[in-house]
Amino acid sequence: MKLEEIVKLDEQYYMNTFGPRLPVAFDSGKGSKLYDVDGKEYTDFFAGIAVCALGYGYPSFMQAMHAQLDKLLHTSSVYYIENQARLAQKLVENSFAQRVFFASTGAEANEGAVKLARKYFYAQHIDRYEVITLNNSFHGRTLAMVKATGQEKYQKPYLPLPAEFINVEPGDLPALKEAIGPHTAAILLEVMQGEGGVIPLDRAYIKAVEALCRQEGILFMIDEVQTGMGRTGKLFAYEHYDVTPDVVTIAKALGNGIPISAILAREPFASAFTPGDHGTTFGGNPFSCAAGLAVMDALLHEGVLDGVAEKSVYFVEKLNALRQKHTCIKEVRGMGLLLGMELCEELPVKNVVLALLKKGFVVGSASHNTLRFAPPLIVSTREIDALCDALDNVL
Ligand SMILES: *Cc1c(COP(=O)(O)O)cnc(C)c1O
Repeated sequence: MKLEEIVKLDEQYYMNTFGPRLPVAFDSGKGSKLYDVDGKEYTDFFAGIAVCALGYGYPSFMQAMHAQLDKLLHTSSVYYIENQARLAQKLVENSFAQRVFFASTGAEANEGAVKLARKYFYAQHIDRYEVITLNNSFHGRTLAMVKATGQEKYQKPYLPLPAEFINVEPGDLPALKEAIGPHTAAILLEVMQGEGGVIPLDRAYIKAVEALCRQEGILFMIDEVQTGMGRTGKLFAYEHYDVTPDVVTIAKALGNGIPISAILAREPFASAFTPGDHGTTFGGNPFSCAAGLAVMDALLHEGVLDGVAEKSVYFVEKLNALRQKHTCIKEVRGMGLLLGMELCEELPVKNVVLALLKKGFVVGSASHNTLRFAPPLIVSTREIDALCDALDNVL
């Protein structure tokens, strides 16, 4: 189908939450390259919002997917599932966690994390149910997670929202202390706010939040839906901060495009869910867990994770060189291969995204007029060079 025909169908039949979208429909991919319906080639620096960590057609991933496709897709968690048990083991063995629960989306994992925190206190007859989150955060689109997301633009059309979420300013420790009350159950935050503008939070602040959670006896929960699975150069971004979370949620890259998310928790919180407390139809099915296992293998045993830190240094250096040259670049920030470039107000980020798309480069955007780069982790330095040349040209 031609792009114009797809646009026409979309405009007539699809609920208009995304439109006008970027004017392209991708049809296939290989490595870090995407091809649109007219056969034009693009180099991908967004990976479908940091999802396709292995890019497209990654051999061992494809092999695992084909094999599982031919065997079995879904059984429901009424029954034992080998892939589910094995992926849970793999995540536990490579993290702070002691138990895992699988779901299908980031928002669903975050909802589950909040339920876990509440259940933990409920079981002890303690009246703690509020969750403190940060302004400029992003935690998903369900009603509760819209409230957890500390951005007015996501909340306003849906009022009233669940009241048990309190948004405070990131970095403001006194405000956080003041927000903690007798009903506080947990603090949920991203150590680097992705959607909010690719903003890494201060190390001292994160350490202080951890200490505060321990002191108050509440859960320290980190949303790694975007930063997890190698994106920042370590398997999980919390590892950069020298902290031990109580709960971590992951999703985006866990399935490399197959929908799967997870709640990771350590004891005693991990055992707060008891039979009947929580559930899901699709979460952790044989197919999505096969995807998760293949992603873990590629990251840990096929060298994908090892390359991230080095490529990040290279990429950041090149972006900073552009910053020296172009006064319209305000700041370059981020970790690993989740990098942001904040532009001055006179240069709307969406114009740059569109201009790069025309030149065959796919990049994302985030709040604060920020370009968001989240390439497949297999991106090459040659591809980084090519993007930076195109960006230089566009700016
Ligand atoms: C994308 C994202 C979510 C929401 O994930 P969905 O799969 O869209 O529900 C939650 N938290 C963070 C940090 C995200 O980046």
